[in-house]
This record gives sequence, structure tokens and C-alpha cells, in this order.
Amino acid sequence: MNAVVRQAVLIFGGTTEGYALAETLAGRDDLRLISSLAGRTPNPRLPAGDTRIGGFGGVAGLTVFLRTERVAAVIDATHPFAAVMGSHAAEACGFLGIPLLRLERPPWLPEPGDRWLPVPNWPAAVDALRGLGTRRVLLALGRQELAPFAVLHDMHFLIRCVSVPDPLPPFADAALLLDRGPFDLDAERALLDRHQIDCIVCKNSGGAASAAKLTAARERGIPVVMRQRPPRPALPSAADVPAALAWLDGLLGANPPAGGT
Ligand code: NAP
Repeated sequence: MNAVVRQAVLIFGGTTEGYALAETLAGRDDLRLISSLAGRTPNPRLPAGDTRIGGFGGVAGLTVFLRTERVAAVIDATHPFAAVMGSHAAEACGFLGIPLLRLERPPWLPEPGDRWLPVPNWPAAVDALRGLGTRRVLLALGRQELAPFAVLHDMHFLIRCVSVPDPLPPFADAALLLDRGPFDLDAERALLDRHQIDCIVCKNSGGAASAAKLTAARERGIPVVMRQRPPRPALPSAADVPAALAWLDGLLGANPPAGGT
């Protein structure tokens, strides 16, 4: 009787796309799925299939892992603003000759009526706020990204993030709103109006879950200081899970495994 040869597929996850892809692949008997999480979140939701947690120890550690686990394909589904993991993956996979796909939701694009100020980093966003002279700003950021804005003593900040910043940077005037998406358009409209927000700061994460604030800002003529995504290595890429599956099926079908478990 022939043993079924299962090729190892590694997903760098921690994102909606990473969980969705793992869910889709976990039941397949032609591959062995491993999801990798960075370990930033205590008690994270575990993806379907096998999971490992924590950094690899740079490119060298990742290379050892890929070899040891005899990984046949890697899908980098890390967040668009996770700037390092993708380049480590490109280096290690390039060295070992392992096919690598970038799975990334498309960025938001400005529409007529939008007043977006693209910025490359948070210090540039602080400068943009100074230039705009805004007074009541919605910071829709991660809790570790707030500190650069605390130098702006003459503005009120409504800080919306998923969990409590610890420590909270020394803002002169700020209110904390703990919430996680998806955010509904009517609720976003009401939030901007209730707090008299005259500017939003966010990053171009893309996706539907947090896009409603952009529509509400457009309707009100409110400027949006929008951090642009970091540069990434040029790689084959997929915008959604079906496209990633098509890439994987083409690959596994085209390259029968030489070994595996
Ligand atoms: P990063 O800057 O790209 O990575 C920093 C280091 O964290 C990497 O060098 C690696 O450590 C480790 N790492 C990152 N992702 C990993 C993964 N999936 N599995 C194992 N190790 C991983 O990433 P980050 O911005 O710190 O984000 C960490 C994780 O949170 C990512 O997986 C990302 O998808 C998720 N996330 C990030 C954001 C964001 O805005 N940055 C938002 C939502 C979710 P070693 O060098 O030791 O291997």
C-alpha cells in the first residue's frame, strides 16, 4: 500500500487572511499545514491545523526551521504593516529555493472627495497634523503606535484601539475608546459627530472591517492622515484566499514531492 505523501506548507499568519487560509487548508490530506504566529498576543486564537508560536531567531533560525520541517511552500500572510517577517521569508526561501507567496489584502485607494495626506511614518504624521492645525483627532492605531503623537499638546485625541496601552503615553488631552472592528458606517458617522472629530490618523490596512471611517470622513470633508504600507520584496502575490489556493494547487500539482511525512 502506498503511503500518502503530505507536503508541508507554512503560513505566516496572525491576520484575517492567515486564519481563513488555514481554515481552508486544514482538512486536506495532501499537505501538512503549519501556521506560525509571532506570539505578540497573550492567549491568541489558534488557527486550524498545527501551530507554532514565537519568532524563529532571524533568517538563520527560519532557514533551519524550513529545512527541519521539509517545508515545500510558504505563504506570507502577515499584516501589511508587519515590515520584517516578509523580507526574512524572502531571504530564507530564496536561499533554499522554496516557493513563497505573499497573501495581502489590497490597500484602500482614495475616492473622489477624499482628503488623504499620505505619510511614510508616524513622525511625518505628527508634522502633517501640525500643518493642518486640527484640534480634535481620531487616532485609529495600534496601542504601541501612539507615543509620537503625545508631543502635540494643543490637540484633543480620541484614541481607538483594541486593548489598553500600557503605559499610556503622556497625552495632554486624550480619551480612550476600546473597540475592535468591524465598524459600521452609521456608528462611524455618529462617532465623528459626537466627538467633533476634525481629522483621522490611521494606516492603510485595507479590507472592509475598518473602511467605514473613510466613508464617514469623506462625507464630512475631514482630512485623513494615512500611513502608507512599508516596502516589501517583489514576490508572487495573491489578494485573497482563493488566489492563494490556486497558486498552491498549481505548485503542489506541478511539483510532486520528493519526500515528506
Ligand atoms: P514584523 O515586524 O514583520 O516581525 C518582527 C519579528 O517578529 C520577525 O523578525 C519575527 O521574529 C517575528 N514574527 C513576525 N511575524 C511572525 C510570525 N507570523 N511567526 C513567527 N514570527 C513572527 O511583524 P510585527 O509588525 O512585529 O507583527 C507581528 C505579528 O503581528 C505579525 O505576524 C503580523 O501579521 C501581526 N500583526 C501585525 C500588525 C501590525 O500593524 N504590524 C497588525 C496586526 C497583526 P524572528 O526574526 O525572531 O523570526
